[in-house]
Amino acid sequence: MRLSKMHLHTLREVPGEAEIPSHIWLLRGGMMKKVVSGVYTFMPIGYRTVRKIGEIVRQEMDAAGAQELHMTHLMPAELWEETGRWSAMGPELWRVKDRHDRDFLLGPTHEELITDIVRNDVSSYKKLPLNLYHIQTKFRDEARPRFGLMRAREFVMKDAYSFDRDEESFKKSYQDMYVAYEKVFDRCGLKYRIVEADNGAIGGTGSHEFSAFSDYGESDLVYCDVCGYGSTAENAAGVDAPPVDEPLLETKEVYTPNCKTIDDVAEFVGLTAEKTLKALLFQVYDEYEEDGKIKYRVKEYVAAFVRGDRQLNMIKIVNALGIAEHMIEFADEAVMGELTGAVGGFTGPVGLKNCKIIVDSEIPGLKNLLAGANKFDTHMENVNYGRDYTADLITDLKLVGEGDACPHCGAPLSKTRGIEVGQIFDLGTKYSKAMNCVYKDENMQEHLMFMGCYGIGITRTMAAVVEQYHDDEGIIWPLAVAPYHVIITIVKNSDEEQAALAEKIYTDLLSTGTEVLLDDRDERAGVKFKDADVIGIPIRITVGKRASEGIVEYKLRREQDRVEITAEEAIEKARKLIAEEGSNPSIPLRTLL
Ligand code: ATP
Ligand code: MG
Repeated sequence: MRLSKMHLHTLREVPGEAEIPSHIWLLRGGMMKKVVSGVYTFMPIGYRTVRKIGEIVRQEMDAAGAQELHMTHLMPAELWEETGRWSAMGPELWRVKDRHDRDFLLGPTHEELITDIVRNDVSSYKKLPLNLYHIQTKFRDEARPRFGLMRAREFVMKDAYSFDRDEESFKKSYQDMYVAYEKVFDRCGLKYRIVEADNGAIGGTGSHEFSAFSDYGESDLVYCDVCGYGSTAENAAGVDAPPVDEPLLETKEVYTPNCKTIDDVAEFVGLTAEKTLKALLFQVYDEYEEDGKIKYRVKEYVAAFVRGDRQLNMIKIVNALGIAEHMIEFADEAVMGELTGAVGGFTGPVGLKNCKIIVDSEIPGLKNLLAGANKFDTHMENVNYGRDYTADLITDLKLVGEGDACPHCGAPLSKTRGIEVGQIFDLGTKYSKAMNCVYKDENMQEHLMFMGCYGIGITRTMAAVVEQYHDDEGIIWPLAVAPYHVIITIVKNSDEEQAALAEKIYTDLLSTGTEVLLDDRDERAGVKFKDADVIGIPIRITVGKRASEGIVEYKLRREQDRVEITAEEAIEKARKLIAEEGSNPSIPLRTLL
């Protein structure tokens, strides 16, 4: 492609909205343009990388035996009502109506539609196992779209769905996808960690997340260097402190003026935070329909208690209550206080009424804790579970963090951040049961199918690659996903020898299928070099003053070194590197959608 003909619009300034490197460089490199918050158009250069990542995924899915189909974006609400997700997905679900006022949605994921296809088409064990996938635009009305492609409202995802006759067979399907995912992310050049994860709104019973290393990732991960355990922090099981063996002391009120936080009160009374009880107050909603709109009202209040130095894990509360994430929020303390007796900053479990009490699993084993007294500026000493209060639910509520015990071996855990680029799920029979997706075995007995689903964020992966491959000048694409392999920069267009040599290298590289850009624009050399760096083309061949001798400059974007060699040597070097590091098998760049 000749840059003089290409629609490429790079930016000199950092766009105000962009905070993290991938967002900045994808915009500045002219790879994409913002339409509205969380919605982007891919420009010709950027779309090539989207297609390349898509193609790597496609090749690995095909190689693992999955079959590509293409499902619609638009789905009728009735299908999603069958599984309860029309309501469970809450405001993230992009709902639309047709001209007859019928409810539809724009797909955030496709379990319902694929299960509908399979329950209608497959009736015998002979057709199983089956794995179907597509690469398609997804819609999620995210509460906080941000960081460009990282958390978008419209994004490209690959989603695959496996159907098996039993658990044993499912395990193999899951393992095949696990391995295929490793190949995909290896080929994209990503450095990543695979961890155990929560199933979230997708449901089911087990999951792994593929998380690319990055300080800007939104996934908190914990891992153990001793036994190799790794998990998203929200999914990691907390280890209870050992029970304390000491006599129960008399409860006693203490005056604790202005001590609203655990640290304040612990310091004031001279205790460590481990000897205190922390309260967190929530309101839980239920939904109802009014004038054809879904509305929410407070159904009940919940007071959750953890040891003072612990953090509460919201996902564990949500799972314990069996509700969707959007159905719970921190309580309006004034309103809750009137009903339950809670006093913001001074809430304790003793004497609370009209609300559900949930305590962390280690609390009953701890003794003589300091808790709020449900009285302004007052705490209560020596509060003990069983003697002074009981709970509606006792369960692990701990958010596991740095230094906490590994649930497998007890060694202290480390913590890091990552970008969730892919996730695979054991769905069990959640969807097949809800939608009656069954097969008949050899004896004509009916059974539910075992399902798995497997997602890769194609466009989020693109952002993750840029997070890991950039410098102060722009993107440094790995060859396998670079929009073009080589850029030939002509220092002075008007110099005929330079133009002719550049043209010769260009045609030569093109003839063997190298993806090459020729910067033949009427611009100063400095502008051309800057653009080449911003858009991150891996190999640059500069044709300048020594063109008359057949000498060019060869430079890799990822290295500082540059060498002066003959044009033939440069072509040879480029070809060799592409063969080594470019995608193998090569990518035909079929259309993505
Ligand atoms: P997150 O926890 O980040 O919200 P999720 O767990 O809801 O993601 P999945 O349903 O597992 O996402 O979707 C599969 C993949 O799609 C994710 O691993 C991620 O790469 C990508 N993805 C999900 N949400 C978004 C989004 N809002 N923008 C871009 N990519 C996304
Ligand atoms: Mg996920």
